[in-house]
Amino acid sequence: MTIEDYKFAGKKAIVRVDFNVPLDENGKITDDTRIRGALPTLKKILADGGALIIMSHMGKPKGKVNPKMSLGQIKDAVAAALGADVKFAPDCAKAADEAAALKSGEVLLLENLRFYPEEEGKPVGIDKADPAYDEAKKEMKARQKEFAKTLASYADCYVNDAFGTAHRKHASTAVIADYFDADNKMLGYLMEKEVTAVDNILSNIKRPFTAIMGGSKVSTKIGIIENLMDKVDNLILCGGMTYTFAKAQGGKIGLSICEDDKLDLALDIIKKAKEKGVNLVLGTDCVAGDAFSNDANRQICPSNDIPDGWEGMDAGPETRKAFADVIKSAKTILWNGPAGVFEFDNFTDGSRAIADAIVEATANGAFSLVGGGDSVACVNKFGVADKVSYVSTGGGALLEAIEGKVLPGIAAIKG
Ligand code: AMP
Repeated sequence: MTIEDYKFAGKKAIVRVDFNVPLDENGKITDDTRIRGALPTLKKILADGGALIIMSHMGKPKGKVNPKMSLGQIKDAVAAALGADVKFAPDCAKAADEAAALKSGEVLLLENLRFYPEEEGKPVGIDKADPAYDEAKKEMKARQKEFAKTLASYADCYVNDAFGTAHRKHASTAVIADYFDADNKMLGYLMEKEVTAVDNILSNIKRPFTAIMGGSKVSTKIGIIENLMDKVDNLILCGGMTYTFAKAQGGKIGLSICEDDKLDLALDIIKKAKEKGVNLVLGTDCVAGDAFSNDANRQICPSNDIPDGWEGMDAGPETRKAFADVIKSAKTILWNGPAGVFEFDNFTDGSRAIADAIVEATANGAFSLVGGGDSVACVNKFGVADKVSYVSTGGGALLEAIEGKVLPGIAAIKG
């Protein structure tokens, strides 16, 4: 079923969204992108005369109630965004009465799903090495099914619009779909858009295809890096992982962030790129700081010759130009992860150079996809989010989809 074709009038729809929005210390939302992202789906259901039950996780409460991660804090913001009153169910697993009382056009927001360990379905308080772990996992999986069944019992149909968690087989993202037949479960608009954007990257590649992978570590990105090597013409690796590569090749990196157990892996990536004919582009110079702070003293130095007591914190001018040249000639672009510690205004130039080059390439006809929390924060910070082809709400989910993995949240609906 598709959201466009479904007749919501007189029906109750339970919708999994990703309202895991950042809050400040007073519980105020600092970035409402995720709420705005879900609005087309939520508004369509209300406009069609359906009743809405909204469910989401927030943060990592690890299966325990934690008021700091209560979705009650965002109820008014959701109401304002929707232009409708929102009722709040303070216990997501005991909301049957509130759900039953819901009328067409009304909205019920459930409390944080992850206050229950059943949502993620991982046994708590037991180590994987414990002989009793397998049994505990089996038991938790059974409880997860019951939890999903309870959530499903609130509604006539299920809509999954939470791309950010589509790579997880959680109660609300995948297991719940088993309790609806194919005619009563569907992806939301945001999910549909994300899936189309990934399809554009995977099936409709206009060359050259350039991927830019940044961020702090190579270890968390290795799956996607290896996978991209079979697809891209140019692979720019930047950010903190630069220094693992520099050290692996005998460079001197001062205090720069480095994964010493990944030096062989870095050399292996360099070798594989050569074998596969991929143009691997690594930073050659950097902006180093003498402290991990915005106010640190700065100097430009080679990425493989950083003085003692200094650390590489951003891409240097030569590197920025090399990155920009490769990006500007691309016809398909994927960007995940910043080129430096962009949170500090004095170390944003590398990430800004990437963003600017992507904007220019896009204006010249390239398809550009930016995904992952920090790259999205970059394009927002630089005010260019509307000048790239698509900004994905997914980090891990996006990378897994591009790796070619089937996302459980999508498979649960599409089969
Ligand atoms: P990740 O979560 O792995 O995508 O990494 C994102 C983080 O990498 C951001 O918070 C950046 O500040 C950080 N980062 C980027 N470049 C560096 C660097 N040279 N040294 C330390 N952290 C960095």
